[in-house]
Amino acid sequence: MNRTCHNARTRPWGVFAQALPVLALTLATCTPGNVPADLLIAGGSVLDGTGSESMEADVAVAGDRIVFVGDAARAGVRAADTIDAAGLIVTPGFIDMHSHAELDADHGRDARAFLYQGITTVALGMDGFGSAEVGAQLAAWEEDGIGANAFLFVGHNSVRAWVMGMEDRAPTGEELVAMQALVRQGMDEGAHGLSSGLFYLPGNYAETEEVIELNRVAAEYPGAIYDTHDRDLGAAYPPFGYLESIAEGIRIGEEAGTKVIFSHFNAQGAHNYGRAHEGAALIEAARRRGVEVAGAHHSYSATQSNLRSYTVPGWAVDGGDTAMVRRFDHPDTLQIIDAQTREMLAIRGGGERILFADQRPDLNGRTLQEVADEWGMDAPSAARQILRDGNASVMNLGLYDIENIRDLAQRDWMMTCTDGRDPGPTRPVTHPRAFGSFTKKIRDLVLDEQLIALPFAVRSMTGLAADFLGWTDRGYIREGYAADIAVLDLDAVEDMATYENPHQYSRGTVHVLVNGEFAVRDGEATMALAGRSILRGGAAYDGRQ
Ligand SMILES: [Zn+2]
Repeated sequence: MNRTCHNARTRPWGVFAQALPVLALTLATCTPGNVPADLLIAGGSVLDGTGSESMEADVAVAGDRIVFVGDAARAGVRAADTIDAAGLIVTPGFIDMHSHAELDADHGRDARAFLYQGITTVALGMDGFGSAEVGAQLAAWEEDGIGANAFLFVGHNSVRAWVMGMEDRAPTGEELVAMQALVRQGMDEGAHGLSSGLFYLPGNYAETEEVIELNRVAAEYPGAIYDTHDRDLGAAYPPFGYLESIAEGIRIGEEAGTKVIFSHFNAQGAHNYGRAHEGAALIEAARRRGVEVAGAHHSYSATQSNLRSYTVPGWAVDGGDTAMVRRFDHPDTLQIIDAQTREMLAIRGGGERILFADQRPDLNGRTLQEVADEWGMDAPSAARQILRDGNASVMNLGLYDIENIRDLAQRDWMMTCTDGRDPGPTRPVTHPRAFGSFTKKIRDLVLDEQLIALPFAVRSMTGLAADFLGWTDRGYIREGYAADIAVLDLDAVEDMATYENPHQYSRGTVHVLVNGEFAVRDGEATMALAGRSILRGGAAYDGRQ
C-alpha cells in the first residue's frame, strides 16, 4: 500500500496537463520518477469493475498489488516489465461465483480452463457439498499451489450426510446440534457461508426449518452468505414449485440473517420458458425490503448433473444406493419407481435430451435414448441398469430457455458463474461451461446481440461479486487492490467449447494476472500457481486461522 502513488488521472486529462506542465506538477501528488513497479500494462482501455465506461489508463503492478492507475509517463512510473495494451480491454480478474474447479487434482490444479476465460477467483464447496474441514482445504491449496484464487462454503448436504447418512427423515435434536457444530467449524476456519443443494440428496430430505437452523450458525459471522442450489429450479420431481423454491431460499436467508445468492439461477423446463421474470420479481421484492439477495448465472441452455437425480425419485434412495438397488429388485416397488422415472424424464424432455459425460467409454458422448435403443430396452430400464454400477455424470440438453437467459442477464444483481468442472483430458465429454461461460457471455450477449453493455457485463463478473462477498481489496482496478487482472482482445474473445467437443480453451484473453503474476501471457498459460486461498472477508490465508 505505501508503494502506492496517488495519481488516478485518466489519459484525456493527462494530455491536457502536458500542455500545462506547471499546473501538472502542482497537481501531481508524486514527483516524477518515484513509482517503482514490476509491471506496467500500458495504454489499455480500463474497465474498473464499477460498471462505468472505460477510460484510457496505464496500470502498474508491484508485487501482488496494483500500485498505480493513470498516466504512467507523466507520473514517472518505472517498471521492470511493460506490456503494450493499446487496443485491448483491461478488467479486474473475473470471479466465478459457482465453480466445480478440480484444484486438488493434478489435471485441475493450474485452473487453465478458467484462466483462459479471464477468471482469477473461484467459489467452491457449492450445491451443499462443501466439507466442514475448511481450514485443512485452504492450507492444502496454499501448500500445493493453485492456479486461481479460491474460497469456500461449508455444505448442508455434507454435514447432513456426515451426521445422518442418507436418511429420509428430520434430524433429532442431537443430530441438529452435531450438524450446527460442523457449520460452526467451517465458518471458524474461514468459510464464506453455508451452501445448500436442496435438489440433491440428502439435502432434499431436509425441511426448510432445518436449513434455517444451520444457517443461523453461519449468520453469527459477519457477512455470511447462504448460497443455494434451489430445491426446484423447475424440473424437480415431485415438483416443489419453481417460485416456492425461490421463496424458500429467500426465507432461509431472511429468517437466519444472512445474505442469499441463488446459484446458476434460471427456470428449468419447457413449461417454464419465458418465466424467469417471475422468479426475478420475488428476488427484487426481497431486495426492496432490505434482504441482500442476488444470483449468478451463465448462458448455456444445458445443465450438468447426475443420472440418479434426473431419473430416480428421492424416496427410492432413502438409505443410500444399496437400498435403492434393492428397491429396483422388488417388483411392486419397481413399478412405482418406473412410472415416476417416466414422469421425471418427460419433464426433462425425454431420454434423447440426457447426454452422458461420463468416465465409462460405452456411455460417454451418447444419449440415454441411444444407449437404451442399443440395449433393446426403454430409457427408464437403461437408466436403472447403469445406476446398478454407480451413478453417472450427465447433461440435460435444452433445459434452459434463451429468452429467460436474456432476461436475467440484464438484472443488476446478477453475477456470473461457470458451474463448471474440467474433468481433465481423459474424459472427452463434459459441459462446455467449464471452458466458456464468461467468454460466451461477452461474445453472445455483449458483442453479437448487444443485449448488455460491456461495462455492465464486466461488473457482473467482478465488482458486483466482490461487493457481495464483502471483499475490500479485490474485484476492481484500483490502487492498493490485489493485482488480479484480465487483458482482453475484444475482437478475438470467443468461447470455443461445444457440447460435442468441450475441451477447448476460450480465446481472446491475451494476458491474465493472478496476484501480480502472469497466469496467461500472450495468450499462453504460464502454468504459474499464483492463486491464494481466500478467507471470509477477503484476506488471503496466512496459516493462522
Ligand atoms: Zn448446482
